[in-house]
Amino acid sequence: MANISIDPRYHRLARFHRIQNAGVKKLNDATVVILGCGALGAQHAETLARSGIGHLILIDRDFVELTNLQRQTLFTEEDAELALPKVIALKNHLVEINSSIKVTAHIADVSGDNIVNLIKGADLLLDGTDNLALRILINDACYQLNMPWIFGSALESYGMSHNFNFPHLSELPCLRCILGAIPLESGDTCSSVGVIQPILQLISSVQTAEAMKFFVDAESSRDTLFTMDLWASRSQNVNLSKLKNPNCPTCGDHPTYPSLQEKKREAQRLCGDGSVMIREAKPLDLNKLQQRLEQKNMKHQFNEYFLNIHLDHHRVILFKDGRGIVYGVNDTYVAMEVYQELLTILSVR
Ligand SMILES: [Zn+2]
Repeated sequence: MANISIDPRYHRLARFHRIQNAGVKKLNDATVVILGCGALGAQHAETLARSGIGHLILIDRDFVELTNLQRQTLFTEEDAELALPKVIALKNHLVEINSSIKVTAHIADVSGDNIVNLIKGADLLLDGTDNLALRILINDACYQLNMPWIFGSALESYGMSHNFNFPHLSELPCLRCILGAIPLESGDTCSSVGVIQPILQLISSVQTAEAMKFFVDAESSRDTLFTMDLWASRSQNVNLSKLKNPNCPTCGDHPTYPSLQEKKREAQRLCGDGSVMIREAKPLDLNKLQQRLEQKNMKHQFNEYFLNIHLDHHRVILFKDGRGIVYGVNDTYVAMEVYQELLTILSVR
């Protein structure tokens, strides 16, 4: 076999007999999407950038906040102070870690109408999200595109991971097949029950190791659901093959990919304390809005990605794509009113 030369930075990677120079080359040629760039996603991105995945596509809708820093590696106090979008902050740090790879950042709120366009062309998707609805959407999009994806989730000290849609594991169920049979979501969210960073690192390690195996030696990929509770010191490997549903609308014989047909919800309560996300199709001219805020002497901060506006009882963040986050409210209707009223005051509609 011809000797393949590699970048010296991957020396230790290539020394591992399962990878070698040929494996490094396969990683360098790979494109991976990381959907969700919070605790799990940021960790995935760092590991894969250091491992020389040639092209990383980062997708997330949030910006860095101080409360993220306990568990979301790579982000800094400065990122939080500047309230940078997570994908931008992450890209800035990844380029410093490995300038030889390509990093594409999408500030986007993923839904049925944009997910396929955002992820298509990649070889593999890594789950970095924090909710089941988004994972079901990922599942539908990946099966439609014939793209393998690696699920991962963690809460408190417990986490799990599974490989879905791997070509040589086609007898295994998809995420939709196992809904109801496995407690994939407790109804709690990260902000209500909390999470320790080690379980996030462990689950991310499982996901990124499976990603490397997929590119270098797919036959050795794990074919079971991995679960681990670090506090109770318990782990399990669960065989899910009996849960495959031949009539599944995602992985069955006549797929319809139901979540790709769903329309965006207009408003949605977020994983956090008293905040609601408003989705609007119409983009906003933030520069113009900022001028109006200046004229009206309304308290605000502005960076090139969003406007942070302080009202008497609420704080509202407006994004270029028309999205808004209203803080200090739990009711989606009240949040819609605050959003609409603000845009009326600023006379943009
Ligand atoms: Zn299925």
